[in-house]
Amino acid sequence: MCFQCFLDRVLRKIVWDSWTPLKIRLLAWRIILDRLPSKWNLVKRSGNFLGNDVMCVWCQTQAETLNHLLFPCHFSYQIWQLLYG
Ligand SMILES: [Zn+2]
Repeated sequence: MCFQCFLDRVLRKIVWDSWTPLKIRLLAWRIILDRLPSKWNLVKRSGNFLGNDVMCVWCQTQAETLNHLLFPCHFSYQIWQLLYG
């Protein structure tokens, strides 16, 4: 099983687990649907209203997509390490 498949499975379990707080379930559901307000999604959905700057506000090395914010972003990685390290 690939990591994305594993993550999707875990997120779906969180969404349907009645003991998980509602705000966490909603966050998991928005991640599954790629509906978090990343720069990439905001620019994609606003037309050209917000300009074309989609670079990550934290590391400025890649486009700020959901996938980037959750995994390869060095800043996000440090936050995950603080939470779970
Ligand atoms: Zn980044």
